[in-house]
Amino acid sequence: MFPVFHFSVGAFTCHVFDDGTSLLSETDISAMFVHDAARILPIFRAYPVPLGMSANVLLIEVQGRRILVDSGSGLGDQAMPGQLWTALRQAGFPAESIDTVVISHFHMDHIGGLLNTDNQAVFPNAHLITSRPEYSHWMSESFLAGLEPKRSARLRKTFEQYANRLELVDPDTEIMPGICLIPLPGHTPGHCGIDLNSQGQRLLHFIDTVHLPIQLNAEEVSPTYDAQPEFAIATRRAVLDRAVREARLVMAYHFPFPGIGHIQQKDGSKHWMPLTS
Ligand SMILES: [Zn+2]
Repeated sequence: MFPVFHFSVGAFTCHVFDDGTSLLSETDISAMFVHDAARILPIFRAYPVPLGMSANVLLIEVQGRRILVDSGSGLGDQAMPGQLWTALRQAGFPAESIDTVVISHFHMDHIGGLLNTDNQAVFPNAHLITSRPEYSHWMSESFLAGLEPKRSARLRKTFEQYANRLELVDPDTEIMPGICLIPLPGHTPGHCGIDLNSQGQRLLHFIDTVHLPIQLNAEEVSPTYDAQPEFAIATRRAVLDRAVREARLVMAYHFPFPGIGHIQQKDGSKHWMPLTS
């Protein structure tokens, strides 16, 4: 059985699935933070436990609805296929039962799970919700023309398959009661997080605003995946400050599974306090 982490936020019953975890080496960290390796490597070496990078996919259940936030890698990376589809099925949430998929941004580890090997929609009954700026950025003809042909073909195929049930929304939109899409630009131009708010309880899922807990005290360090580092740094600072100030329960897509916890400020530095049960 694949691990599943269960928790709730007011009326929302939440489950987190791990699409795949890989243990990180110094070589991985140097490649990921290529411009800031000297800054981040000592923090990585001092991290108290071996650090893994997960892909935490959130499933929200409310009033008979099932809302998935991102779709994992699917078979986008043949060397490391995502395990989300199998994990969902095993836990009793087959793909057909998902009625909404919210996509935070268009990197393959977030949208790869939308298509199967035959280039068909994996979620036959789901509405697809994503931010208009993200869609406009990736799907403009001029941007697609600059991508590897395989990548652009994959993007076109993905949105063709969901074309009749695609909903483009402005960031900062309540997509259903208590579930808001919030703009967190920089990682990609239209990158969005999710803010859950129910019965006085909240969760801020900041997706890829911060990739690893070793960035908490090195906010200015951007991984190579941040498309607009300056915006990404400003967004990261704002999100981390808010998480500390409001003692928010937060979720991070790539923190060690399940990537849920609090960020505490102690003795002048920030600490990741994961939720374990
Ligand atoms: Zn990612």
